[in-house]
This record gives sequence, C-alpha cells and structure tokens, in this order.
Amino acid sequence: MSSSPQDQVRRVETAFSRIVGHPPTGVWSAPGRVNLIGEHTDYNAGLCLPIALPHRTYAAAAGRDDGLLSVTSLAEGLGGSPTVVPVADISPENPGGWAGYVAGMVWALREQGYAVGGLDIVLTSSVPIGAGLSSSAALSCSVGAAVSGVYSLDLLDHEEARKVLVRAAIRAENDIVGAPTGGMDQTVALLAQERHALRLDFRSDEVTPVPLDLEAAGLALLVCDTRASHVLADGQYAERRATCERAASVLGVSSLREVLPDELPGSLARLDEVSARRVRHVVTENARVEACVEALVREDFGEVGELFVESHASLRDDYEVSCPELDAVVAEALAAGALGARMTGGGFGGSAIALLLRGLVDAATSAIEVRFEREGWRAPECFAVTPAGGAYRDL
Ligand code: ADP
Ligand code: MG
Repeated sequence: MSSSPQDQVRRVETAFSRIVGHPPTGVWSAPGRVNLIGEHTDYNAGLCLPIALPHRTYAAAAGRDDGLLSVTSLAEGLGGSPTVVPVADISPENPGGWAGYVAGMVWALREQGYAVGGLDIVLTSSVPIGAGLSSSAALSCSVGAAVSGVYSLDLLDHEEARKVLVRAAIRAENDIVGAPTGGMDQTVALLAQERHALRLDFRSDEVTPVPLDLEAAGLALLVCDTRASHVLADGQYAERRATCERAASVLGVSSLREVLPDELPGSLARLDEVSARRVRHVVTENARVEACVEALVREDFGEVGELFVESHASLRDDYEVSCPELDAVVAEALAAGALGARMTGGGFGGSAIALLLRGLVDAATSAIEVRFEREGWRAPECFAVTPAGGAYRDL
C-alpha cells in the first residue's frame, strides 16, 4: 500500500523545496508501533512488549532566523498549507490541532533549556493515522529528531540523549496537545531496534531489547487496521483506569503491579465482581508478557501464539475492551492457521495482530476481508510487518 522509504524521503524533500523555496537541511524519520502483548498494563506500572513498524513519519527541516515555526503536513485532508507560529508564543492550543504535536516538541525542548529557534518543517507519513499504531508519536519524534539535527543538539547520538527526546515528546502531548499518554509510543519511536521487540517496564522504566527475527523463522506478523472506532473508547478508558486505581487502594498496594499471580485468588476475593475481573486481566497480562519474552528468547513461537490468544480472551471477557470487528480478525486469522492473534492497543476498534507462517499471509488477509464484507463493515487494511528501528536521519 505505501511507497518505499526512499520514495517518501524524495517526496518530502521535493515538497519542502516547492513550499519553502530552498532545499531542506535534512530529512529525519520516526516509526509507528504495534504492541505484541501487554495491554492496559502501562497505567498499572506493568509490562508491555511493542515493536516499531516499518511505517514512518518523515520530517524535512531547515532553520529560519525570524523565530517563526512553519509546518506543513502532506497528509490527506490537512490542506497542505503551512501553519505558522512564533516559537516564543507556543502554548496549549496555540497552535491547536495536529500542528500542536510539532510545536509542542519545539516548546518542550526550549523548556528543557535547548537553544531552538525558528524552523521550516514539511511532513509526510506512511503510518495510518488514528489506527492505534501511534502516528502521533511518529510525528512528534520525527520532529524531535529534525530539531535536534537542525540545531546540532546531538540528541540521537546515544540512549540517554534519545531519552531526552522521549521526555520532550511526552511533554509535548501532555502539555501542548492535551492528550494523556503513558510513554510507550515515544519510547518505541526513539529507542526501537531492527529485528527486536522492546520490553518496557513501567515500574522501573527499564527498556530491554528482545530479539525477534521473524524472517529467519519463516514467520510474519500481520497487522490489521479494522478502521472501526467506537465512540465508547475515551470514557471507557478513563473508567478502566479509575477501577484499577480503586482496586489497588482496596488491596492496599501502590499499583496492581504489586499483586503477585500466586496471591491472586485471595486478592480477587476482596473485590466486587467487576473489579475482580479487571484486576485478573492486569495481573495475568503482566505474567503473559514475561512468558512471551521467555518464549521469544527460546524461539518458541507456538507458545507466543498461545499467549496472544489468552491475552485476547482476557481483554475480551475480563477487561471488556474488544469489539465485534477485533474479535472477527482474531477468529478469521486463527481459522486460517495463525499461531495466535489478538487485539492490540486500547480496544473498541483500532488494530489486531496475528502471528503466522509467511505463506499464510494472503489467505488470512482475504479471509478477514471476506468476513468484513459479509458483515457490512468498512474494508479493513491488513499488512505484514517486521520490527524496524527508532528515529534516524534519512538524508
Ligand atoms: P494514533 O497515534 O494511534 O495514530 P492519535 O489520535 O494519538 O492516534 O494521533 C492521531 C493524530 O496525530 C491526528 O489526528 C493528527 O492530529 C496527528 N497526526 C499524526 N500523523 C500526522 C501527520 N502525518 N500529519 C499531521 N498530523 C498527524
Ligand atoms: Mg497516538
């Protein structure tokens, strides 16, 4: 569906020259992500295991000496004309909308004391927008990489420097865009490595690469954007978070991460029926992330698939955040012979993933498409992915 990285780089470079009137200093990019396992665990000080996608957002940039930030996105529906704001005036809602992710990054780096002045930035992306694949962090982090490059901040040079960009991107989303974000997306966009997943521990903030060479194993990871979005999502997310916080306080722990699987029956007995099921999901999901990491190290992909299936059942039945479209992708992928499949992301729409032999990708994709057509749903978008690297300079 999307063109090659080289095509994207050319496209954004050419568009920059047309819009700004001279070539960019460079082009930088950052990836979207998909979470393999560990859902609704981030706000419970838990574990997750995302990979970076080959889909990236590309930022062509150059400095300007009048203190203005001018940003243009080539994404469909955004008009393709520049949004302009003085960097000194960036604040919540100024600029509003999508440009807030870009301006927020400039603002956050200036807040952290970096000497960042005016910029021209032009953006293009192959990350599906709003599909739960983190187009927002791909955007803010590609811009962070570009700002660092243009103003020689050297923030891509090593892990600690990249973590400065991670924190800036989180602040950009929280403080300027006004979107709550746990930090998974920004961490992957900046710290991911090719052919690896990243084990993220939200209690210790540890980031650990886990080898995942799908190609060598003859496997593929199919991502399926259902293009469904159920209006429930925001309210239900806040409600799940509140339930987890209440349950932790009833159990007298700082977070649900402190509830050990061995103690689960005793803990659940102290909670009302709904809270007990929510807590059971979180505690068992953390255990499944650990089991998945061990299975990947052993290259036991059959076990990985079983863990995907268990995770999906837990999210559907105990956490109640799935929806008919996500359940259908999982059912059709498994019927087509996938080792495992599950919803990924917050739920109520967005994307699902399936782990399967490379030779089964086409059959699984058409089974899913046929099912969606029969149900009268919007056509889904399915694509096979391999784990890509974090932000870097392309040109
Ligand atoms: P997700 O991150 O899962 O794709 P979000 O709702 O967090 O969904 O972020 C989507 C928003 O990010 C879009 O509505 C838009 O404001 C912004 N965005 C993402 N990619 C681009 C892009 N290429 N150009 C302009 N805005 C973008
Ligand atoms: Mg996002």
